Amino acid sequence: MKGGLEIKKVICTFCAGNCGVLVHVKDGKIIKIQGNREHPISRGFICERIKYAIKWLYHPDQLMYPLKKAGERGENKWQRITWDQALDEIAQKLAALKEQYGPETLAVTEGTLRGTLFWMRSRFFYLFGNPHNVFHPGTICGLNRYSIGQAIAGWRVCDKGLTPKYSLIEKTNCVVVWGNNPTDSIPRASTWLLQQLSKRPLRIIVVDPRITKIAERANIHLQLRPGTDTALALGWANIILNEQLYDRDFVENWTTGFDKLAERVQEYPPERVAHITGLTLEEIVESARMYATTKPAWIIGGVATDQIGLNAARVEQACAICQALVGNIDVVGGSSMPGIGPRTEGKRFIRDSELELRDKLPRKQRLKQLGADQFKLMTWPGYELTAEPYEKFYGVSAPTMHRMGASPSMLWRAILTRRPYPITAMISWESNPIIWAGNTKLVYEAMRSPNLELYVVNEYWMTPSALFADYVLPMASWLERPYVDTMEDFADFAVGGERAIQPLGERKEDYYFWRELGMRLGQKEYWPWETFEEHIAYRVKPLGITYDEFVQAGCLVTPLEEKKYERLGFATPSGKFELYSSILEKLGYDPLPFYEEPAESPVRTPEVAKEYPLILNTGGRFMPQHHSEFRHWGTGMRERHPDPLVDVNTENARELGIKEGDWIYIESRRGRIRQKARVSNEIPRGMVNAEASWWFPEMPGEEPSLHGLWESNVNVLTLDDPECCDPLTSGWQNRALLCRIYKA
Ligand code: SF4
Repeated sequence: MKGGLEIKKVICTFCAGNCGVLVHVKDGKIIKIQGNREHPISRGFICERIKYAIKWLYHPDQLMYPLKKAGERGENKWQRITWDQALDEIAQKLAALKEQYGPETLAVTEGTLRGTLFWMRSRFFYLFGNPHNVFHPGTICGLNRYSIGQAIAGWRVCDKGLTPKYSLIEKTNCVVVWGNNPTDSIPRASTWLLQQLSKRPLRIIVVDPRITKIAERANIHLQLRPGTDTALALGWANIILNEQLYDRDFVENWTTGFDKLAERVQEYPPERVAHITGLTLEEIVESARMYATTKPAWIIGGVATDQIGLNAARVEQACAICQALVGNIDVVGGSSMPGIGPRTEGKRFIRDSELELRDKLPRKQRLKQLGADQFKLMTWPGYELTAEPYEKFYGVSAPTMHRMGASPSMLWRAILTRRPYPITAMISWESNPIIWAGNTKLVYEAMRSPNLELYVVNEYWMTPSALFADYVLPMASWLERPYVDTMEDFADFAVGGERAIQPLGERKEDYYFWRELGMRLGQKEYWPWETFEEHIAYRVKPLGITYDEFVQAGCLVTPLEEKKYERLGFATPSGKFELYSSILEKLGYDPLPFYEEPAESPVRTPEVAKEYPLILNTGGRFMPQHHSEFRHWGTGMRERHPDPLVDVNTENARELGIKEGDWIYIESRRGRIRQKARVSNEIPRGMVNAEASWWFPEMPGEEPSLHGLWESNVNVLTLDDPECCDPLTSGWQNRALLCRIYKA
């Protein structure tokens, strides 16, 4: 410390990028934040959000004290209480509800790496006896991929792009950016990718109907009809097989089900795929050949395909199969499968999964998880089948944290109908489900329902979801708490950072909340670490280092090893990459991928398309906002991106009399919202792309406004009927919907 100035090594979690930053603190106040050049993952990179972070933290609307509802739900009337009162009352109510309805009566909603670690919620839940009634948007954001990857390969195959592997962009010769706009969704990877492009002839294939920045630089840009991705991937597999472009050695020695796959892909000749996707025959054939013959190649997936409803998990399965056919599995510059870590000299860090206490949950309770009988891959039935080989292979318990996700669309229905059993209590920790979940009207009804007897929200701000809470608790942000992360146990590295400052006001860390609640509910012996720092120290101890050494290092990385399968095999029932999935077969699903038309589309529902002739996509990321965050004026973020924008094609706009900057209505069968038109040819004719997760903190909180919940929130339009969701993972449909637009 010099002249009262301290520099803290902190990890940014404004998004899931885990960039290392140096936070300058003077007299207990943050005065500057810059990138940490020594951080092993981010190497000094920061995105533009960092320049708003100080104003964000010290914004006068940040929550500072626990609040208890003082009026009716949605009235926005509050009474300030102490943490002890809040926790005592919540624990008392939870105990009573558990007694009356059973431990499964509790649900939790949570975000993606926005808070600290999910193991602590699992630990609380399993000790409480809850069957993992955990609901998160990871169901439509990468976690569905994880579950199918585990089933067929024992690990996630096509990367969404969060790992330090992004430094390996330097080693790849072909990048397939599939349903991803990295400029807005993974800025660090995007920057490094563009740097590589300026240095060498890296080949780029972009699969995206929109013309994004990366698409402008692509060798081949495949502007397919939204929702038809699986058909394209199967078309690629068809060409790879029929033109003998596959890696014989890998296929013969390390895969199962080749003959059955070969039979299946004959159903997807390029001509048929062209008909389904709207691409030309040449585009399909040329791109498949480029991908298969340029090695190593790397498919970077994105949330677009996670959000197509019915066929979502099948895209990942088909893309992963393409990766396997050409032998791009666990190779530098291709799809890597990091495994368990971090490790040094035979010693290993304690992973999140080891702290979950999964086995404290009585086995029969698992059967009660909401939706487990219907959406089997991402719930206990699928988990158990993938966990068995995982645990044999890696010698450590398989994570349940976000590997599993109960069906959000079942949650709202269960609250309202009390079937299959009553859900009477819910905790949302740093999660705003009335904004992120599909079908807002239904979520609203569930949150207002008297059936929901206890609703607790842990937040930084008052949000539209928090307005329905009985208790709103103020939480410490990434600048106010230490950090440790293994990317939900997808990674073989661990990121660590210290807190920049002590929590402001009466804000507390997530760990404090779960531990204190657990202690009040008879879990005392299971929460031995008094502070989060103590828990981190416990986890790094096996490596022979201290908490301080860990957070100063910023990240512990396991040395890279390619083609581990040659030594170990794959963590699947057969020990091989399963082109024909024995786990899907056991679960009663088709073991091979197939194309299915989206639940609502011009082809499947032409009568709907007559009234709603445009294809609506939503759910894409945009800067500097992240998910439903950063909507407050006064942080700089809202000033930079003040209005919700909807992309409209120039010709469509002309025909409808819409001009750049006009507010327009976007209407689906489910409702109507308005956003501001951005007119260009970057969006194909016949399609609109609306920004997701908008709300307006400056608008009144009380009903009917609810901070502008109904104004521009695109989930008013999305489709979450269980029969329209992905049958494997329960992902709902955000893309390839039908709508009409007109001037507001
Ligand atoms: S990309 Fe930006 S928001 Fe995300 S972790 Fe890095 S600095 Fe933070």
